[in-house]
Amino acid sequence: MDSHTGSATASPPFDLVVRGGTVVSHDRAVRTDLGIRDGRVAAVGAGLGGGLRELDATGLVVLPGLVDVHVHLREPGMTRKEDFASGTRAAAAGGVTTVVDMPNTLPPVETTAGFAEKLALVTPKAHVDFGLYGMLGKTNADEIAGLATAGAMGLKLFMGQTTGDNPCPDDGAIFTGLRAATAAGLVVGVHAENDALLRRLSAELRAAGRTDPRAHLEGRPAVVEVEAVTRISTLASVAGTQLHIHHLSTAAGLDRVRLLRSLGHRVTVEVLVAHLLLDDTAYDRYGNLVKLNPPIRPADDVAALWRGIAAGDVDIIATDHAPHTAEEQAETDVWHAHGGFIGVETMLPLLLTEVHRGRLSLPDLVRLCCHTPARTWRLDDRKGHLGVGADADLVLVDPAAPGEIDPHRLHSKHPVTPYAGWPTVGAVRATYLRGELVAKDGQAVGAPRGRHLAPAPATATPAPSTPATATPALAPATPAGSMA
Ligand SMILES: [Zn+2]
Repeated sequence: MDSHTGSATASPPFDLVVRGGTVVSHDRAVRTDLGIRDGRVAAVGAGLGGGLRELDATGLVVLPGLVDVHVHLREPGMTRKEDFASGTRAAAAGGVTTVVDMPNTLPPVETTAGFAEKLALVTPKAHVDFGLYGMLGKTNADEIAGLATAGAMGLKLFMGQTTGDNPCPDDGAIFTGLRAATAAGLVVGVHAENDALLRRLSAELRAAGRTDPRAHLEGRPAVVEVEAVTRISTLASVAGTQLHIHHLSTAAGLDRVRLLRSLGHRVTVEVLVAHLLLDDTAYDRYGNLVKLNPPIRPADDVAALWRGIAAGDVDIIATDHAPHTAEEQAETDVWHAHGGFIGVETMLPLLLTEVHRGRLSLPDLVRLCCHTPARTWRLDDRKGHLGVGADADLVLVDPAAPGEIDPHRLHSKHPVTPYAGWPTVGAVRATYLRGELVAKDGQAVGAPRGRHLAPAPATATPAPSTPATATPALAPATPAGSMA
């Protein structure tokens, strides 16, 4: 590092200078330049010195690469649906530069050896940086310390049935696993649905002859989520575990989280793009394509999630990118249909459209999709912001560009999406990973150069970030040449 007192002319040239864009952090948007050296942000400020490459970002918005903490890229074992190459190309094209991949593969990632095999398998195919979850399973508590040492990003706990049909651990196994996760310093992310309840209610509907898409929603009413959220928060608090609730979907679930927080429970909450953009009228329009666990909900729940975002009660937005084959997505009997659909590539254009509509600010988007995800999984020394020292994961966005979700341009193996034909405002022009171009105008470019990410060592359990208390991640505009 050069002397902090030197001017820009005393510094070696930057590898890349991005000039004149509006750089967005979780709490502000500032028109400034970014100087990139060795894949990292080396300087932030107006009028920076020269770069070997220069990029004019006038009129564009510069975001930190999105961190999608909930994707299923289906390797190993389900590559007919998606694989790490296709899924991470989709991520790059959509402005997502870090993904956290879920462990409900074939086989599921339950052991240290299985983790190492998956890591070796997927690393050469990764077009963006990635973390890998291990499973908090029925019988693998003895493996959890090893999973942490191997670099697992966290542990996924399926309390309710979903793709892969992995057996859900009982409360005893959950508690043992939570204690092991605490000792290992791993975040536990939970799919919070009460398995016995959803199976019972769904069986009743099935016995009554129902096969229509809406029966899936009726078999998983809000109580399925509320009970599971309450139980897991209770157990995790006693076990001292850092808990993250994936895809919270109901007004009642969010109310319960508020109550639990008021009692001192610390938990981060994620909602999905799909739960924000679709309501139960989607069953009539899209059929079983929008079958999702937890289900797409009535409009009142959707409105409550948006209010939760505005109030700062929701910490993170993710996709639950969950590909299936086109044939699987065409299944007409709801009980045979698969849960989930793709989303990693359409997340940012769809959320930018919500920014355009005034439902979200750009700093909100960065807080929910970059800053808090990186902070929660202890990646925030390098990810989730564009302060000096951060990885130069940049997304250049034209905020006013009209467009349309076009499945033919998507990179997933089976680009079947309910958003086909949806109009958008805001386009991803380019994505950079550690200073190198990985996508341009919706097309992934270049060889895979993604790296495996592990969380930084745990210190104290971080509190969930809120707009009021979060630490600024982006240095304010500084004079030319400042390296501080
Ligand atoms: Zn999922």
